[in-house]
Amino acid sequence: MSGAARGKVLFKYADLIEQHTDELAYLETLDNGKPFVLSKYADIVGVLKCLRNVAGWADKISGQTYKMDGPYQGMSLYEPYGVTGAIIPWNFPMLMFMLKVGPALAAGNTIVVKPAEQTPLTALYLAALAKEAGIPSGALNVVPGFGPTAGAAVASHMDINKVGFTGSTEVGKIIMEAAAKSNLKPVTLELGGKSPLVICEDADLDAAVDIANLALFFNMGQCCTAGSRVFVQDTIYDAFVAKAVEKAKKRVVGDPFKPEVEQGPQVDETQFKKILEYIESGKAEGAQLLTGGCAAGNKGYYIEPTIFGDVQDDMKIAREEIFGPVMSLLKFKTLDEAIKRANTSSYGLAAAIVSKDIDVANRFARSVRAGTVWINCYHVYDQSLPFGGYKTSGFGREHGLHSILSHMQLKAIVTPLKDSPWL
Ligand code: NAD
Repeated sequence: MSGAARGKVLFKYADLIEQHTDELAYLETLDNGKPFVLSKYADIVGVLKCLRNVAGWADKISGQTYKMDGPYQGMSLYEPYGVTGAIIPWNFPMLMFMLKVGPALAAGNTIVVKPAEQTPLTALYLAALAKEAGIPSGALNVVPGFGPTAGAAVASHMDINKVGFTGSTEVGKIIMEAAAKSNLKPVTLELGGKSPLVICEDADLDAAVDIANLALFFNMGQCCTAGSRVFVQDTIYDAFVAKAVEKAKKRVVGDPFKPEVEQGPQVDETQFKKILEYIESGKAEGAQLLTGGCAAGNKGYYIEPTIFGDVQDDMKIAREEIFGPVMSLLKFKTLDEAIKRANTSSYGLAAAIVSKDIDVANRFARSVRAGTVWINCYHVYDQSLPFGGYKTSGFGREHGLHSILSHMQLKAIVTPLKDSPWL
């Protein structure tokens, strides 16, 4: 199909998805446990923005011509990889699906998607809608299954020419190894994080508390970019703690289909138990439990919004990705110290600073090794901005044109110039 025809069909796909917002949001909440209002007003909105952005790029991808050193003309041409693969996680099932499928199709590839075993429903529904939109048979394939079987088959398949993976750093390494050992297919890896959020003493305290609350508790703490190491300057530490605890206690935890609920259950029993183990390790290593610290209620996989104070850099809860509603507060004295400690993590996905001083904020933004830096905000994403990790948070960039280009390879074509005045 031409780029224009691909764009047209992808815009139609987006319209169909929009018409099925309620069904998709319902399935997402049923499968994942996230509040229905989030599925409907955040996740689907993100899906549509992604798809419409890449649909718009489909007919605007072009190469260049070069006047070469000698009687030759060079051309560069973007070509799709052909068959691509994607392996995605369960925390934003629809969005992760579209972040891979949209650019792959817009660039003219076909794609085989392996959704997470915990949350396959919306991927299957979206595949059915793709058919209805007129995406040709075989261009989009959804293969649900477990990681070591279905996922491994995608990563190691000799006829898949590129694979995009979003998930844990541990599995990302397995994917890269499988890709290397099979046909050396290129991989893009969007992996885990342990993102620092630095609150400076000049910050508006209420705004800082709101930012920290959103940074960590959004999506039940199940965000790769979660602000899970909150560094608070010592002069405002006590005041910050009081307000942060008060706000966390007010979070409404419960049935995700109720409109007032802000926090549903964790995705499954494995995650629920893993998070409770992290909470126990925080207590055992001497962090100060300020609120929460246990399951919420005695039915389902709900966890009390939890905050630990006096967390030290070497504690397990400060080093490892918890992926749950557990905030760690760490005290710092100077900006230099905060930057140094922010950078001690092996991860480098996101970072944020809250300060009224633009010089302080800029210094932090340029010094921290992370793929995204927020200044006085958190969890603000856009299809026009690249998204991806530094260090063990992965490589490759998603969103808009960045993602389309990562789904294409660049060919050089050379031809002699005969009887040309341009020799
Ligand atoms: P995970 O790595 O366990 O699983 C991700 C996917 O990989 C699933 O589909 C799973 O079935 C598959 N998989 C597991 N083992 C496999 C194997 N041996 N071969 C091939 N595929 C395999 O991650 P998860 O628990 O589903 O998701 C949570 C993780 O994802 C967190 O670390 C989080 O930070 C990360 N994440 C990162 C981003 C990002 O953009 N950087 C976004 C969302 C989630």
